[in-house]
Amino acid sequence: MAAERKTGEILLEAKNLVKEFPLANSRRGKQVVHAVSGVNLKIYEGETLALVGESGCGKSTLGRTLIRLLPATSGTLEFKGADITAMKEREFAQYRRQMQLIFQDPYASLNPRMNVKEIIAEPLTTYGLAKDKSDLERQVKELMGEVGIPAEFINRYPHQFSGGQRQRIGIARAIALRPKLIVCDEPVSALDVSIQSQVLNLLKDLQDQYGLTYLFISHDLSVVKFIADRVCVMFLGMVCEVGDTDSLYETPLHPYTRFLLEAIPKADPRLRNEEKELLTGEIPSPVNPPSGCRFHTRCPYAKEICRREAPPAKQVGERQVFCHFPLEG
Ligand code: SF4
Repeated sequence: MAAERKTGEILLEAKNLVKEFPLANSRRGKQVVHAVSGVNLKIYEGETLALVGESGCGKSTLGRTLIRLLPATSGTLEFKGADITAMKEREFAQYRRQMQLIFQDPYASLNPRMNVKEIIAEPLTTYGLAKDKSDLERQVKELMGEVGIPAEFINRYPHQFSGGQRQRIGIARAIALRPKLIVCDEPVSALDVSIQSQVLNLLKDLQDQYGLTYLFISHDLSVVKFIADRVCVMFLGMVCEVGDTDSLYETPLHPYTRFLLEAIPKADPRLRNEEKELLTGEIPSPVNPPSGCRFHTRCPYAKEICRREAPPAKQVGERQVFCHFPLEG
């Protein structure tokens, strides 16, 4: 059972979700990258759930698999109770428009040969949501206004905008279809710190206005603390811990969560030299993940059982933790 949130219905639920990629040039031809391994996760309507972990832990792959931009290897996906896992594209189209993605690098995700009007109009045209040309232009201008881009820039091209403005255009395109769920994949990590908070505030405002649900993928725990209601910590394709943001930051129960939090740079210089246990060792390979608990090769608390058996989910209050020996809460 995932950490329960008191408000909102379950919007999207993953049950035992697995995503594997065949390894290119694999000598035996059968080796796979275990990117996502048996993830159970609930996303509640109206919340911001953050997916955190070091790069390569599978969070972007999980985000894309959850909204079917990547096909799942196995497991089930339910959107508002409907099993969308193997739904045919035609039937899935009504769900596709409810699930959108905001990319990390707005410059790479915007077609440089299309102007703002064409970029934002594209999803509206695809779904036939404009009566005619002038209605289309009206909707595009409205969306530009919602994300703070002046309407007179409608014929400009991506290279004529700053990074923050380009991300705003990406957000306008993502909200054009009035989706329920937006997967935000590191949406501010390519931006200057001074611009990050403006974009985060815009995301919050749009969430309030439209009741949006965000799956917010980030490696930046300061950003996550600011924006997320709940946090899901991942390591090597598996979930370590899920819980309410404040309680998880205050009392991490999984050793890996604690290491991640201790690695956040401290603003107060008096706290900078505090003794902290830092993670040692390389992240193990997702091609040959360690047996038992995948974190055991880096965990200072590992015992024999950790090498042998994958830890089952433990419910600690509202938190869910996958560790044989959770830290004291
Ligand atoms: Fe560490 Fe064992 Fe817990 Fe894994 S299960 S995090 S190895 S104590």
